[in-house]
Amino acid sequence: MEKKELSHLNYIYQRNTSQNVENTAKTKVIDMEYQSNIKKIDKEYRSKINMIIGEGSVFLIILLVVTFKMNHSLQRENRVHLQQKNFLLSITHELRSPIASSKVALQTLTKRKDLPRDKVDMLLCNSINDMDRLHALVENLLLAAKIDGHSFQIRKDACNLSEITNSSISKINETYEGSRIFEADIKPDIFVVGDRMALTSVITNLVENAVKYSVDASTINVSLCEQGKDVVFKIADNGFGIPDKEKKKIFHKFYRLGQEETRQTKGTGLGLYIVYRILSLHKGKVIVRDNKPKGSIFEVVIPKSI
Ligand code: ADP
Repeated sequence: MEKKELSHLNYIYQRNTSQNVENTAKTKVIDMEYQSNIKKIDKEYRSKINMIIGEGSVFLIILLVVTFKMNHSLQRENRVHLQQKNFLLSITHELRSPIASSKVALQTLTKRKDLPRDKVDMLLCNSINDMDRLHALVENLLLAAKIDGHSFQIRKDACNLSEITNSSISKINETYEGSRIFEADIKPDIFVVGDRMALTSVITNLVENAVKYSVDASTINVSLCEQGKDVVFKIADNGFGIPDKEKKKIFHKFYRLGQEETRQTKGTGLGLYIVYRILSLHKGKVIVRDNKPKGSIFEVVIPKSI
């Protein structure tokens, strides 16, 4: 009986042991599955986080780029708007004042028949200067409109730049009654192939600016010479000068310096834009630098033939 009981106990022990081994093996399998599942979930979670961070960064970059571009174009629009407003104000002034002063001169001449000859001559001369100013202004406006509308075809004339420069200096000297001292070194008969009217406008605009943006009795040096395949025109004034940060901007359409001295001077901000565009059409260039001790130097290089 005792033996029987013992073998029964042994049987239960062995069955439990074998069940335990079986359970441990099962637990181990479940554990491994569990671990691999955890790893899989962890991997998926990390890749989702990476994806969210990636998408978020791309979105942020796009947002920053769009904001920057919008801000940039807004600023540009504001600048163009301000320049157009300035242009309208200056053009109105530029048109109104010569018309008004010519009208006064003509009214005086018709009312006062007894005026002495020299007074009559002075009034007539002033009116002609006013008309010349108006004419130059209208020419500049038309030229700028043609260049912008791409309807401007440059002619290929043989242009005597020496003559153009000399005549431009004489005309300005007349208008400003010799109030500036011109020191000119202009080599005779320097020719380039190009558009005579357009190149005259380049030289006239630069000579006029040198006078406008300097004070009475100051010296202006002008030179014209050949350099290899190019012709070099240089004009140096002792005027107000141009700050470095403005040197590029002055060639933009309607741009005028904010300096008080130059603001008080008549102008529309079209001259240097025309100079730049016409020289580009002639495959030439214009550069501006400081003069010593003050003022600016404009240097123009034009190929002798296009
Ligand atoms: P405008 O003379 O009609 O204003 P420009 O296009 O010729 O127009 O010149 C643009 C601006 O550049 C001028 O308003 C002036 O502020 C500046 N500028 C041009 N030439 C000179 C110069 N020689 N010295 C100083 N400032 C100049």
